[in-house]
Amino acid sequence: MSGTQTQGHGDGDGTRAVRAGLPEPVKYEPTLPGPVFAAHFHLPGEPTGPYTYGRDENPTWALLERAIGELEAPGEDGVRTLAFASGMAAVSSVLFSQLRAGDAVVLPSDGYQALPLARAQLEAFGIEVRTAPTRDDAQLDVLDGAKLLWIETPSNPGLDVCDVRRLVERARARGALVAVDNTLATPLGQRPLELGADFSVASGTKQLTGHGDVLLGYVAGRDAEAMAAVRRWRKIVGAIPGPMEAWLAHRSLATLQLRVERQNATALAVAEALRDRPEELGVRYPGLPEDPSHALASRQMRRFGCVVSFTLPTRARAERFLEALRLVDDATSFGGVRSTAERRGRWGGDAVPEGFIRMSIGAEDPEDLVADVLGALDASDR
Ligand SMILES: *Cc1c(COP(=O)(O)O)cnc(C)c1O
Repeated sequence: MSGTQTQGHGDGDGTRAVRAGLPEPVKYEPTLPGPVFAAHFHLPGEPTGPYTYGRDENPTWALLERAIGELEAPGEDGVRTLAFASGMAAVSSVLFSQLRAGDAVVLPSDGYQALPLARAQLEAFGIEVRTAPTRDDAQLDVLDGAKLLWIETPSNPGLDVCDVRRLVERARARGALVAVDNTLATPLGQRPLELGADFSVASGTKQLTGHGDVLLGYVAGRDAEAMAAVRRWRKIVGAIPGPMEAWLAHRSLATLQLRVERQNATALAVAEALRDRPEELGVRYPGLPEDPSHALASRQMRRFGCVVSFTLPTRARAERFLEALRLVDDATSFGGVRSTAERRGRWGGDAVPEGFIRMSIGAEDPEDLVADVLGALDASDR
């Protein structure tokens, strides 16, 4: 592992995660106040903030937003964070609040599987959509005249990485805004705002909350005007998180550093075990020294994520492999404490081979998980 991969010792992430967003202690009150369920708040007289109506603001979101902001940009006061009902609510809020008819936007061609749906809607609104692969910073080739550059790094599910600092510099020179989808890395793995991006956007449904039981999203950004437009969009569309979800997410942040350390270390162990098989599996993991993304990932990421991908020779082999796993559920999504895997091609849409497996590493004992994966590879090899 490179020098930046310190396994969390001394980088302050564990301490930050357990205290993130907590209010000043109040005698007889809990450390993390419980969820505030309110459609409206007592509001005599002039209707001024902070809490008026439940679609605008909620104290439970406010604490969560502060917590996520502290993790996305530690020590920075000017960063605003907005919580959303899901990752796609957050993604859409940036796309649709920043772009107008006649604008052009650059999306990754290998990004999250709902981006093509967003693309169709953007085009219906008269916005020009260009795409290029994440790898080799290929999005630069179609950037001229674009208003917004949308980056997803590492990309899901192909795990390619692009150079955020370089893309930001080129986009800035052309007057384009840059948004980074930070779902896979989490704020402990990568800090897009420090790398120069205007927006760090993520699905909190994945490793951020980590238990596979909450849908959530967020947008963090430094530019007050741009963030005001994102907030306005949230209010118009009403894509707000429920107080219970927001509270569960905040509670889960306390274990984020522990989960990320454990899951990511085991992901590397699984990737190494797959690499060392006699059969060529095309294993991808940015933390693997042989991975084409490793050098760049080491420069801009602080941790490499919990997702490993590889390719079995046929669809039938991949299906037998998934069936033979005992500790890994055949399910979509990623980032949870229980390992999951799926044959990505079953959805259509991703440009991946039929035998392509995306595996999300959980918090099981590493040796148990490696044994389960290798056992299932042997059992399915017929
Ligand atoms: C899951 C995911 C999303 C969408 O998040 P939801 O919470 O499912 O709406 C966006 N981007 C990436 C990279 C994702 O993995």
